[in-house]
Amino acid sequence: DRTLLREDDPKALEFGYVTETARVDQGKYPEHQPDQQCSKCQIYEDGPDGKGGCPLFPGKLVLAGAWCSAFS
Ligand code: SF4
Repeated sequence: DRTLLREDDPKALEFGYVTETARVDQGKYPEHQPDQQCSKCQIYEDGPDGKGGCPLFPGKLVLAGAWCSAFS
């Protein structure tokens, strides 16, 4: 089973991943918009229980309401 991506995962840190889009550091990521979240990202792979896959983080699950700087 895939495990939930942790914010302190080295690659998550590299991409500024946070489990709630409201917690994005706007100073560091000024391009972040409040309505952006994984479930609206083009590469999100929707799954059950508000979690899904992301090709950027193989073998992990990300939260539908999360965000990272690779959002598209
Ligand atoms: Fe979420 Fe998209 Fe970042 Fe993947 S690339 S973690 S789906 S915002």
